[in-house]
Amino acid sequence: MSKIIDNCQVVMERLARAAEEFGLPPQPVPTLIVVTKNRSAEEILPLLDAGQRDFGENKVQEIHSKWPSLKEKYPDIVLHLIGPLQSNKTKEALALCDVLHTLDRESLLESILKYKQPHHQFFVQVNTGNEPQKAGIPPLEAPAFIEKAKAALGTSLVGLMCIPPIAENPAPHFGLLKLLAKNEKIQKLSMGMSNDYTLAAAMGATYVRVGSAIFAE
Ligand SMILES: *Cc1c(COP(=O)(O)O)cnc(C)c1O
Repeated sequence: MSKIIDNCQVVMERLARAAEEFGLPPQPVPTLIVVTKNRSAEEILPLLDAGQRDFGENKVQEIHSKWPSLKEKYPDIVLHLIGPLQSNKTKEALALCDVLHTLDRESLLESILKYKQPHHQFFVQVNTGNEPQKAGIPPLEAPAFIEKAKAALGTSLVGLMCIPPIAENPAPHFGLLKLLAKNEKIQKLSMGMSNDYTLAAAMGATYVRVGSAIFAE
């Protein structure tokens, strides 16, 4: 168990030194979202005891089986849904999640408007690699969709999120996301996973989403 805490500590230290690692100007240190999909409450509890509060899951069903009791014990947990959301599960998802990172289409925006509460925050997911199998709005359609989402959600629309293609250099994808955010006057960037979180941090990520680098043996 302490291995998990140690790993988490290493990730936080690397986040703090990320800009330096890439020889880039200093950036605010991003918030670490510990991704707990396929991990048990037993594995998560030591992290909570150590003070970690932001966690990510990618399935609504798993959130409902794992998090209600943890959230009861630690009411200040911030739960992030980082996987695709079916519109018909929006109510269920927003009942437990605080931040949705995967808004990518109008039907989902419509159901969000029915169920959102003032504390909810939303990220538009952009499919920066134009991958047919991947969720997210294509980059060319992103500006119009972001405008629409901003008009509908107001200040609850806080950021953009991407998952770069697995076999590519993530830097151009992070750069594209950052440029879209700048053009649309969006503040937050959800980017960077176990393999590329230091680069994402050096490029201005607000949130990094890290799982295996923390839970791997
Ligand atoms: C699983 C997952 C992560 C974490 O991936 P690791 O490579 O294990 O750090 C981040 N973002 C999303 C959307 C995921 O589904």
